[in-house]
Amino acid sequence: GKVLVTGANGFVAVWVAKTLLDAGFSVRGTVRSESKAGHLRTLFASAGDKFEVVIVDDITKEGAFDAHVGDVDAIAHTASPFHLNGVEPDELIVPALQGTLSVLRSARAHAPNLRRVIVLSSVAAVVRKNPNPAEMLVLDEASWNEEDIVTVREQGAAAPGGAKYTASKTLAERAAWDFVEKEKAAIGWDLVTLCPPFIFGPFLHEVAKPELLNTSAQLWYFMVVKGTFDNETLANGGGSWVDVRDIAQAHVLALLKPEAAGNRFIMSSQEFKFQDFLTAAHKIEPTLPAGNTSYDPSQAKFEIAYDNTRAKTVLGIKFRTMAETTKDTLEDFKARGWL
Ligand code: NDP
Repeated sequence: GKVLVTGANGFVAVWVAKTLLDAGFSVRGTVRSESKAGHLRTLFASAGDKFEVVIVDDITKEGAFDAHVGDVDAIAHTASPFHLNGVEPDELIVPALQGTLSVLRSARAHAPNLRRVIVLSSVAAVVRKNPNPAEMLVLDEASWNEEDIVTVREQGAAAPGGAKYTASKTLAERAAWDFVEKEKAAIGWDLVTLCPPFIFGPFLHEVAKPELLNTSAQLWYFMVVKGTFDNETLANGGGSWVDVRDIAQAHVLALLKPEAAGNRFIMSSQEFKFQDFLTAAHKIEPTLPAGNTSYDPSQAKFEIAYDNTRAKTVLGIKFRTMAETTKDTLEDFKARGWL
């Protein structure tokens, strides 16, 4: 089958494209400009005519994808801004929401072969405040992040950057489910959404220097290699994580498994404190910062954790370990002369 991958030049999407190609699918990737296509063509040259790139310069435009879905069996929609820095909320919300809707509208009207759409959402759309932080709150797919939508509505540009991003992801994913529910009689395809936490791991996309890495890989690089976090943050800061290759594999599994239909999947491998990655990296590469040497992982407390049962049972995903992700990421950085 043929899969349209939107935002194909992104950190996650390049792995999605590669993993789909490796699994035998054909891939049509969309990028915003010709300057972002060359690297992909080189990277996937051996796929021959099973890989192509098309330019969609504005994903929010009505009909933006009309010309690119006529022969596809599936769509993996990943294009969405992931920045946490102070901007107008609409800078994130408009492309996230209208981009998703324009993909779905093109799919409804112009994709006769289409069977499934995968929207890459985030635990940003799942997370809630823990009302009782002394006890860990375990969230599953029934949870929706309503709070940050309210925060952004009330505070506008003054809202925290993180809330603007999480609101954009929630609004986009919610709109996708609403669209499919409303249109179900008119469409011959179904929806799957994937909700990952921090995505780490090696990268294939074009990046000239660490400062230009995507948000999550950049965080990992500066935390592990440059040692930018203080001891307090290393021991107490963190969240949940997953390897980028597991997210790519989840896209393939979501297309191969009929029973994935209509499901939202939390794609979290496990919870972590930043120091856990420093410890793992330092063990492999002793020249890297040791970080907080008095940190005791057995004492780590998490306010929020994610239940990944559905991803394991329905998709059958096996999550990579922190040791493997760390080793492969360091090798990748080393090969680029970044260590
Ligand atoms: P990247 O920044 O590497 O990729 C983002 C992609 O989206 C790029 O192709 C980018 O195109 C495109 N994009 C960004 N803004 C716009 C816009 N306004 N209009 C059209 N396209 C746009 O990030 P990731 O690979 O990490 O992110 C991919 C997806 O994964 C996003 O949906 C993100 O929310 C989701 N995600 C990521 C996580 C992570 O930790 N990395 C965690 C959970 C979810 P261009 O290069 O032209 O800007």
